[in-house]
Amino acid sequence: MRQAFRIRSLPGAAGQETLEENLPKENKEQSAVPALMKHYHDAYLAAIGEKPHINGPKDGKTLQALTKAYGKETVRDTITAMVQSQDPFIVASGRTMGVLSSCWNKLRTEMKRQHPAAVRPEACRHQPACTDAAACTKRRLAESKGNYRDDSLGD
Ligand SMILES: [Zn+2]
Repeated sequence: MRQAFRIRSLPGAAGQETLEENLPKENKEQSAVPALMKHYHDAYLAAIGEKPHINGPKDGKTLQALTKAYGKETVRDTITAMVQSQDPFIVASGRTMGVLSSCWNKLRTEMKRQHPAAVRPEACRHQPACTDAAACTKRRLAESKGNYRDDSLGD
């Protein structure tokens, strides 16, 4: 008797609509990579006037690791800063994805020095970005209570 092949079902496939939330964290970071790659391509093209060379698998891994550590918004902001940077070392380095990773601290420092208010604190997902970590924490707390209020206005 022939045994029928069974299609292996995905674990937890019953709740299709919750699939996105159930994705392991790594998959969420992977899913952010194409948009970041496109942002790098577009920002580079706009600033330099030609397309960057992209090493898909290697650069994808770099972006995934940075996204895991800092969040996709911060990675996106820092890509913009790298592509537009006039720092002699960054310019000479060719502004590759490897440089984004190896010069991350340098880029973040440069961003903070030039535009302190434009640098979002780590893990900030707000739009517009919070100016510092304390403000971000306060905002998140208020949001979680569902009654965001600007404390600078006083009582
Ligand atoms: Zn924030």
